[in-house]
Amino acid sequence: MKKGSILLALLMSCILVLGACSIGSKDEGSSEGKTYKVGIDVTYPPFEYKDGDTYKGIDIDLMKAIAKDQNFKIKFEAMDFSGIIPALQANQLDVAIAGMSITPERKKVVTFSDPYFKAGLILVVKEDENGIKSVNDLKGKKVAVKKGTTGAKYATDNADKLGFTVTQFNDSPAMFQEVKNGNAAALIEDYPVISYANKQQNLGLKLVGDRLNGDNYGIAVLKGENEDLMKKINKGLANLKENGEYDKIVDTYLK
Ligand code: GLN
Repeated sequence: MKKGSILLALLMSCILVLGACSIGSKDEGSSEGKTYKVGIDVTYPPFEYKDGDTYKGIDIDLMKAIAKDQNFKIKFEAMDFSGIIPALQANQLDVAIAGMSITPERKKVVTFSDPYFKAGLILVVKEDENGIKSVNDLKGKKVAVKKGTTGAKYATDNADKLGFTVTQFNDSPAMFQEVKNGNAAALIEDYPVISYANKQQNLGLKLVGDRLNGDNYGIAVLKGENEDLMKKINKGLANLKENGEYDKIVDTYLK
């Protein structure tokens, strides 16, 4: 029948159009089943690290708890810290949680969640080093930092003024090793991370001087993308802070 086949054709094209819409859609509101890719830096205990085949740490547990609270699915993707924002920009990641400090520069490219942890940079030297008590004692010295971090930015911003040179490493353990071996006189790292590593791994390092800033950590998505997801992240974070789960997670790793 002619009329019947026209109707059928119409019906088919409607189905095709609808199908194409859901395939091509970037609107996460309609992507109930989507698994969000979360970038992490597993050289960063107590926030994120690998224990055998599993990822552990404050950030890992927090992100899992937020996803559970807000009913979305996640998959962690480990990479060098300096690769995380580029991976968000290349749409290879949807979210990042990596002990990442909220900074004005980063805010130009990412949207941060509400702050979830207060950290801050600190200068670190070998345990038996007595000549360096603050950044003002670094003249002529070599300072190790980790690529793409706020520590690296602090060092490069102040190197000329304070007269030291900077060497950059891809991850935190390599940077710690450099000072432990005496190849660099000092390093700059986030206070909670280096104090934890120094105790846990017996690195033979010591923290000197006052904190160099008061960085806060935030969870990030690419600016203009995944904004609905960010709303859920903030909602989840607030719920976990309220119901005591946030404190429980932090206490698991930092007693
Ligand atoms: N908090 C620092 C930053 O955001 C370091 C993060 C890291 O090394 N994972 O740059």
